[in-house]
Amino acid sequence: MFSYQAPADLLKDRILLVTGAGEGIGREAAKQYAAHGATVILLGRTQEKLDTVYDEIEAAGHPQAAIVPMNLEVATEHDYIELCNTLHQEFGRLDGILHNAGLLGVRTPIENYDPVIWHQVMQVNLNAPFMLTQTLMPLLSASEDASIIFTSSSVGRKGRAYWGAYAVSKFGTEGLMQVLADELENTPNIRVNAINPGATRTNMRAYAYPGENPETLPTPADIMPVYLYLMGPDSQGIQGQSIDAQG
Ligand code: NAP
Repeated sequence: MFSYQAPADLLKDRILLVTGAGEGIGREAAKQYAAHGATVILLGRTQEKLDTVYDEIEAAGHPQAAIVPMNLEVATEHDYIELCNTLHQEFGRLDGILHNAGLLGVRTPIENYDPVIWHQVMQVNLNAPFMLTQTLMPLLSASEDASIIFTSSSVGRKGRAYWGAYAVSKFGTEGLMQVLADELENTPNIRVNAINPGATRTNMRAYAYPGENPETLPTPADIMPVYLYLMGPDSQGIQGQSIDAQG
């Protein structure tokens, strides 16, 4: 497991956006970021799940969160611009994005892959992070110390049969992260990296491996050290890396 002990006030006064914050890894990251002092903008598809996370953050006495219900599969350029305008009015800047929302799609040979599902997966896993990053770049530039974190996967580094659009989208995510990191090489106030969570006890994992005993897997809480490290100031200067949460 990646080892890092975060100080309690690591993310004090930071404004952070977490996508897919309603459940799984995103939910845990949102709560941990709030617990370390951040105001977290919870973006996700299902309002009730976001409400629950909002309430949990409030009940714990952490900085009040904000909720952005948004379906990344169908969001338009207009929706992204509207989000940017709202965040600009509310906060004036953004200190970090965790691009975490993800869709597994189906596990089947490329020959049989349903093109509709292919496009859905690409939309959520790759195109949405591109659109969000591009649209929100002015707000990130306004931060003294911003961190952009993409979410990768082992199948985004070495292709594996039947993982189809999911694997290809994660290769694309690694590429997007590297291109952006290279472009920002001389922009010290914005760093861009990726995390490969590794096998983690969530619904997505259970869906991908129905025969596996979830009890044998690390929980989202177990893999949080690298999520905290890359979001906070201790990772200043780390640029263009893809880090294993369980490495
Ligand atoms: P998860 O439990 O299935 O959660 C995925 C989250 O993404 C959910 O909150 C979901 O929202 C959101 N989402 C899906 N489609 C969306 C859309 N169209 N618009 C907005 N939000 C959407 O998955 P997870 O296991 O926590 O995975 C989190 C990330 O880690 C993903 O990028 C995944 O590829 C990656 N990852 C996970 C593992 C693992 O073993 N778990 C391993 C490698 C990589 P709803 O709750 O509303 O559906």
